[in-house]
Amino acid sequence: VELTQSLLDRIHRLDSHYNSFITLADDTALLQAKAADAARAAGHATPLTGLPIAHKDLFCTQGIRTSCGSKMLDNFISPYNATLVERLNQAGAVTLGKTNMDEFAMGSSNESSYYGPARNPWDTQHVPGGSSGGSAAAVAARLIPAATGSDTGGSIRQPAALCGITGLKPTYGRISRYGMVAFASSLDQAGPMTRSAEDAALLLQVMAGEDPLDSTCSTQAVPDYSATLNDSLEGLRIGLPKEYFAEGTDPAILQKVREAVAEFEKLGASVKEVSLPNTHLCIPAYYILAPAEASSNLSRFDGVRYGHRCDDPKDLEDLYKRTRAEGFGTEVKRRIMVGTYALSEGFYDAYYRKAQQIRRMLQQDFVSVLDEVDVIMAPVTPYPAFRLGEKNSDPVSMYMEDIFTLSLNLAGLPGMSVPCGFTGKLPVGLQIIGNYFAEAKLLNIAHKFQ
Ligand code: GLN
Repeated sequence: VELTQSLLDRIHRLDSHYNSFITLADDTALLQAKAADAARAAGHATPLTGLPIAHKDLFCTQGIRTSCGSKMLDNFISPYNATLVERLNQAGAVTLGKTNMDEFAMGSSNESSYYGPARNPWDTQHVPGGSSGGSAAAVAARLIPAATGSDTGGSIRQPAALCGITGLKPTYGRISRYGMVAFASSLDQAGPMTRSAEDAALLLQVMAGEDPLDSTCSTQAVPDYSATLNDSLEGLRIGLPKEYFAEGTDPAILQKVREAVAEFEKLGASVKEVSLPNTHLCIPAYYILAPAEASSNLSRFDGVRYGHRCDDPKDLEDLYKRTRAEGFGTEVKRRIMVGTYALSEGFYDAYYRKAQQIRRMLQQDFVSVLDEVDVIMAPVTPYPAFRLGEKNSDPVSMYMEDIFTLSLNLAGLPGMSVPCGFTGKLPVGLQIIGNYFAEAKLLNIAHKFQ
């Protein structure tokens, strides 16, 4: 209770600088904290009992608003918990509130949020990244020790890198998505955002695993992630994809990443250059597929079932049109238009099918490289955190931000962002990419580095 109260006080005092929270849940948090104290006193504590956390505002939380960063869901209070929220509750974690995010998780800067952008704690004139920008900023500003995030095309790893924290996007299907508002269902995955790999292991342990409520969730057994954190890295084979170290990336970032790789060599790893030759195709493929899926997923926001509804609709068509015109912001509308266009009859072969073919090529590139090496290391982003407003009027330059993160989602692979230094006062992230269900290996590698 004491810890929860002191962090709530800290958030109330400081979050006006960061805008990392959309909703604070003081009352329920204190109730959960009391229950946690009681469980501890009764000898029922787990490693997470009494741990204050926050959830990205796209995970449904019973009784606490779930806005998805959108006017459309500004009034939405879910009647049930997402599976991962339920599991963290059961493990004794305390939910302090819901964190800021790009609207419906579409963005790389948190600037598309209906609630205004979150800010980077290292320099509040800079973005924290997105779409899980609020979770990253809150952990970086030490408002909370850990948070949840979601990653459809980089939204855990990129803000983790820009804010200097640890972010893990697990293998597609590792964590249930029941109760997570869908953006692009073939890409979306939840994950922990923490200060260290050790903390990420503790959270993932609870979040991962089979769920009868999500048919896309893997039934593969969940290993003990903490047990292998200290395993030796002797003989680890690291691949550096030449396409990720090419011109165009800030040299200071490449230098930090290379310095990190050198540390692993000292720990007994071997390093070789590898090639992911279709990397340049990941942005065009993703920005067809993700909007196509989003246009379908977002059709449920129609003013009938939940969320925003326009005043005095004339008829059903007017209800749909005005509700959606009023409820969605610019970026979401852009995605819906791109997506419906790509899926429309006559264009399907030219866009959607082509993008799916590229997706398979990208996946095969990874599969063959991961035959030769155990993990791939690379930058997370081409640049450090940019200034608020800098890319807002140019969607394509915002999309380019995702060049090193998107391919993993297209392939369904796990990836991690680990802090590896600074350029000026802004943090730099090292990306570690592993084979399917290799989360334990990624956590082990990150832990040895930290
Ligand atoms: N920046 C990417 C996008 O805007 C990824 C978002 C995400 O991972 N949710 O689509």
